[in-house]
Amino acid sequence: MSPRARPQLAIYPGSFDPITRGHEDIVRRTLRFCDGVVVAVSHHATQLKHGLFSVGERLELIQQVFDDDERIEAVAFSGLLVDFARKREINLIVRGLRAVSDFEYEFQMALMNRDLQPGIETLFLAPDARYSFLSASLVREVAALGGDISAFVAPVVQKQILQKLGEQ
Ligand code: ADP
Repeated sequence: MSPRARPQLAIYPGSFDPITRGHEDIVRRTLRFCDGVVVAVSHHATQLKHGLFSVGERLELIQQVFDDDERIEAVAFSGLLVDFARKREINLIVRGLRAVSDFEYEFQMALMNRDLQPGIETLFLAPDARYSFLSASLVREVAALGGDISAFVAPVVQKQILQKLGEQ
């Protein structure tokens, strides 16, 4: 097999508010067959609901969680994902699939993105079963109610969530 002419990169888009063990799991699985992952934090100027963390804070947490592994880049993007992908010359989008409830929306998005930019493919990965019901919003909710989230986020993320909630 001849070596690849250029590294195979994947974009992993989402809100990552904040990054959970489920997200980490998907990034690590992607690195089994890609040379690098661009974790793309979407921020919409039109977004009505504000998250717990600012986009800058989310990016910082992602960097800390991966301990500056140079194969993983955290960037913010706004606008259409396919436009961002085109600018970066990346034609692979990775998404995590949890329960069946994710499927319909994800399937629609994948087909829409391919329609907007033929040549772009979406790859779905299943996380470790431990994380298959985990979402960032659930983590935020459990933490706000005083539950233990240590199994679901990295220690640095847990610390920041507790600090943030304490400020509110
Ligand atoms: P969340 O729903 O946790 O707020 P995002 O909007 O940041 O997540 O999702 C980004 C991508 O990561 C989506 O494809 C989503 O399905 C996936 N994802 C989120 N949590 C998990 C998980 N626990 N296991 C697998 N994939 C996940």
